[in-house]
Amino acid sequence: MDKQINRILIKDAAYVITMDEKRRIIRDGSILIENDLISAVGKAIDVTQSDVDTVIEAKDTVITPGFINGHCHISYAHATRGIFPDDLGDDYLVNVFRLQDSMTAEEELWTSLLAITELLSYGTTTIMDPGSTKNVDVCLDAYESSGIRMITGVQLADAENPYRMKVYSHEQALRVTESFLSQYNGSLEGRLYAWVMPFSPEYVSGELLRELKVLSDQFNVGCTLHINKAGRLASDDINESPVIALERFGFVGSNVTLAHCLGLSDEEIDILASTNTAVITCPTNVVKNGGGYGQNFPLAELIESKVRVGIGTDAGNNSNLLETNRAMYLAAVLTKDGTGDPAQIPAEKALELATIDGAKALGLESHIGSLEVGKKADIVMYDTLRPEWQTLFNPVNSLVYNADGRSVKTVLVDGRVLIEDYIPKFVDTERLIRKVQGIGSTMMKRNNVSFPSKWPFV
Ligand SMILES: [Zn+2]
Repeated sequence: MDKQINRILIKDAAYVITMDEKRRIIRDGSILIENDLISAVGKAIDVTQSDVDTVIEAKDTVITPGFINGHCHISYAHATRGIFPDDLGDDYLVNVFRLQDSMTAEEELWTSLLAITELLSYGTTTIMDPGSTKNVDVCLDAYESSGIRMITGVQLADAENPYRMKVYSHEQALRVTESFLSQYNGSLEGRLYAWVMPFSPEYVSGELLRELKVLSDQFNVGCTLHINKAGRLASDDINESPVIALERFGFVGSNVTLAHCLGLSDEEIDILASTNTAVITCPTNVVKNGGGYGQNFPLAELIESKVRVGIGTDAGNNSNLLETNRAMYLAAVLTKDGTGDPAQIPAEKALELATIDGAKALGLESHIGSLEVGKKADIVMYDTLRPEWQTLFNPVNSLVYNADGRSVKTVLVDGRVLIEDYIPKFVDTERLIRKVQGIGSTMMKRNNVSFPSKWPFV
């Protein structure tokens, strides 16, 4: 037998929710992993292997594919998380960018690692960091040591903006992106994907969007953009629905993923469907900002129109909740609430959004999103011997509506165990937490930013 192959057998799970084509849920299931790939998944009695390096006992666990978070800024928010009062209004983003702008590369590294630790600990194995990390060369260390799977890029703008984003000439924007794609796409043994990441149509002209889309096609990579409800476009002094403008600029297609997309019109949904453009919805962000998710995000209509939709959480300091599991829950229940129809976004669809649909929205479905032979071993084991999982008869309903990341016991990415019995294996968590608390204090002092508690500290 080839000794170069590392084999892990995860055995005797209560349920393996495969998310495969038939959506099989295997009772008494086992999974065999060879290096980074799943080589068998089935009934425990059928998945046997004598020559395994590691056996993971999975009794009383529910196993799912790792969750996919398609929009999650990880590089800055954890350092000053929770500082903003609820009534800050538009000053919120200005403060976010001011604080972020002052971060050193080393501060960004530790803050990113804390965000990644939180995400992995609660079952998210793939994230898209939408371009806000300034020092990817330094933060690479956190991506590598943690073992997470991630998509990143350079945040681009070519219009003056209140957010201290660098204003690039078109030539610079193209050059810096091209060099980033060449350097990083496919690195970290394929776990790091580099994408094209203009910020939003308010601060990126249509002409640059057009050029960036051509670049992403040439490099065969994805591109992502923030889309708000409405807004003046950088290149036209008119108000036009964003998706209609994007089609005009050619910034639509199977490698384009648009984040947020609140307030889409029927015409815009038709454009997304006909151009196969994907959407990432961030319900935790919408609800915290009073955006009226159930009324303003047409999740059911997008799904009905066969638009690819995945889930994100945005940043740890505007939605504050980074847990993909809780975002999945909110997408389901807020759509029921907004439409007045409890049959909308059933538990099965909610779980698809966080797994296989999320993979499709990022164009990664041939590698991740389900537990099938030949796919990456990105696997989450939930401990069901906990009150919130009981009683257990339908694991999909229980996972979507009762459970959350607290019960995530073991997590693998690329066949490597990153979280084992609730403990991250790649970092001393307590030391990391204390370090980032110190970074946050320093950053606020340095920028003279403080939002005193409305209640007295005594
Ligand atoms: Zn964002």
